[in-house]
Amino acid sequence: MLDDIFSGEKAIQLWLILFLASLLVGGIVTGFFKARKIQPKGFKWKVFRNEGIFGMVNLAASAFLIGAPTAWLTSNGYIATTKGAADWWTIAFEYALYFFLFDTWFYWLHRAMHQGRFYTYVHKLHHLSTSPNLLTTLSVNPLESLINGGFVPLFLVAMTFIAPISEHSMALITPTNIIMGLYVHSGYEFFPRWWNKSWATKWFITTTFHDQHHKYFTANFGGYTTIWDRLCGTMRPKFEEDYLKVKDRARPAPALEPAE
Ligand SMILES: [Zn+2]
Ligand SMILES: [Zn+2]
Repeated sequence: MLDDIFSGEKAIQLWLILFLASLLVGGIVTGFFKARKIQPKGFKWKVFRNEGIFGMVNLAASAFLIGAPTAWLTSNGYIATTKGAADWWTIAFEYALYFFLFDTWFYWLHRAMHQGRFYTYVHKLHHLSTSPNLLTTLSVNPLESLINGGFVPLFLVAMTFIAPISEHSMALITPTNIIMGLYVHSGYEFFPRWWNKSWATKWFITTTFHDQHHKYFTANFGGYTTIWDRLCGTMRPKFEEDYLKVKDRARPAPALEPAE
């Protein structure tokens, strides 16, 4: 039993969990999280309760709407992967292909979902949350989950016919949506001040970017990147200015100048 717990893989998992837990506790104790909260007064219990209810309904419905067809496509050979070792550049290419195609899919459908009845009947539920937290990720109309989440099986079916991707790429692709979703709805900004200034990083969204979409509704439609928003002029003009304001709160107070 003990041998099992302390065997290599289990020990690493245990160590990782303890490490993350100590970071979390340390972060709360030192006020690290508080200083990085994007909307410090945004939390409302009633909204949080509704997100919990909508989230559970969405999870159950999505299991049928996305999970069942994906399982059927896989067991009937419409979704297939190549097994065994793969070059790192193959995995990187396949992952990048998914990443940028999904980003394009999400941006245009998300913009469409902000129009008329499409907004009222599909997307509005997600926008009942104006100050996102982790639960907001799941608080989505199942039809919207189908539209967004449906990209993954479609992409995998297309690739099965064109050039089947590696099982390792698949292992990276499958959890990306949920991880990105939790990250952009976390309500906290963890990235550095220079993120939106640097040419290498400003193309990738951080939590503040999507948080502002929930607060102001009319800009920042991108899901993974800022590319389409920058190209189409739909990025909020004050996005960077407000990003810096959030970062300023996390800065240590400057030492007082000695009186003359
Ligand atoms: Zn929206
Ligand atoms: Zn959202």
